[in-house]
Amino acid sequence: MNEPSDKARDRMADRFRRHVAQTSAEPLGLEIATAEGCTVIDVHGRRYLDFLSGIGVANVGHAHPQVVAAVREQAGRYLHAMVYGEYVQAPQVELAARLAAVLPPSLSMVYFTNSGTEAIEGAIKTARKHTRRKKLVAFEGAFHGDTTGSLSLGGNPVYRDPFEPLLPHVERLPFGEPGALGAIDAETAAVFIEPVQGEGGVRIPSPGYLTALRRRSTEVGSLLVFDEVLTGFGRTGRRFAFEHFGVVPDVLVLAKALGGGMPLGAFVSSPEILATLAAEPPLGHVTTFGGHPVCCAAGLAALDVLERERLWERAESLGETLRGALRALRWRGHLVEVRVIGLLVGLELDDADLTRRLARACFARGLVLNWTLHRDRVIRLAPPLVIREDEIGLGLDILGEAIAEAAR
Ligand code: PMP
Repeated sequence: MNEPSDKARDRMADRFRRHVAQTSAEPLGLEIATAEGCTVIDVHGRRYLDFLSGIGVANVGHAHPQVVAAVREQAGRYLHAMVYGEYVQAPQVELAARLAAVLPPSLSMVYFTNSGTEAIEGAIKTARKHTRRKKLVAFEGAFHGDTTGSLSLGGNPVYRDPFEPLLPHVERLPFGEPGALGAIDAETAAVFIEPVQGEGGVRIPSPGYLTALRRRSTEVGSLLVFDEVLTGFGRTGRRFAFEHFGVVPDVLVLAKALGGGMPLGAFVSSPEILATLAAEPPLGHVTTFGGHPVCCAAGLAALDVLERERLWERAESLGETLRGALRALRWRGHLVEVRVIGLLVGLELDDADLTRRLARACFARGLVLNWTLHRDRVIRLAPPLVIREDEIGLGLDILGEAIAEAAR
């Protein structure tokens, strides 16, 4: 096979800027050739260590051979054959049943979507129709996606304001403050919360907070919705983050790692709650591609890998290794806090410019990481859960060098 010439590559980068809609002022612009495990390789043969997992997707690593084999096999049988929910599609059924088997009994029914934000939209509709209430409670700093309903729940006015009017009847509370939970009342259809806030800066609530939230939601009859799009599938050192807190939500929202690298989301609840989408009117929530058979086959393979290798246990112990090693780096006084839950890490620094310089210096040395969307002083690390110790060591070395450069 002929390698593309440098000129053709330049044209590729140029066409990327001209024809692929940009929302970032400074896209990383890595021109990817292949990705495998924790490594992304660009067209010039440069290797990058991915400490972000493509933002929380590649929990089993990039292009896991078992996932790729499952995709190939399913593609050889059938692709899209009918809109969601009409045909019995084995990969969908098996994935739903496997999810139900690893979740508490009340979370036994799965509605598949294409993405996290669509799953949030489905959960909003379900909650409002099931409770016949309008009010939604969400949290400052939250991120639930960028479609209109999900954005309405978002916890940063900078991203909401230009798109107003968004959904009415949304009340936002400070994250992690039990004293504010009284605002959840008998008019509340649902409370949407990330058990650990991701884009809000990797914020981990204190132990009793989610218990208090569960108690309050039950008291007033509102649904409790956990957005585990980022925290699911072993990321935080448990299969799902809610297991840390001993609290079971009424609705669980999943995506990212669910598809093992293919686009897939889901909202999971009880048959009683999800029945609301099937009556008055029937077909109350439909999707053409949601639960695509190839994506479900990939998700099933990724779940196999997660379970067989008990990757959440690996996440927990590697997270502890990282905690000590990160604190031991020479931060020159700029580190405010290291927050660690499994392999989801937030490094809070004292300056946003420094944070940007540091992320850039890491990237220039072949380490991919970034700052969180709503907290620009927090570097997030979320490497694949299959990461090897030597890869963690390499990442830490690069980070150490980058600090020395960026914190001058
Ligand atoms: N919820 C959370 C917690 C997320 O982190 C994200 C994506 N960053 C979403 C929802 C939206 O998911 P998607 O991009 O698949 O729509």
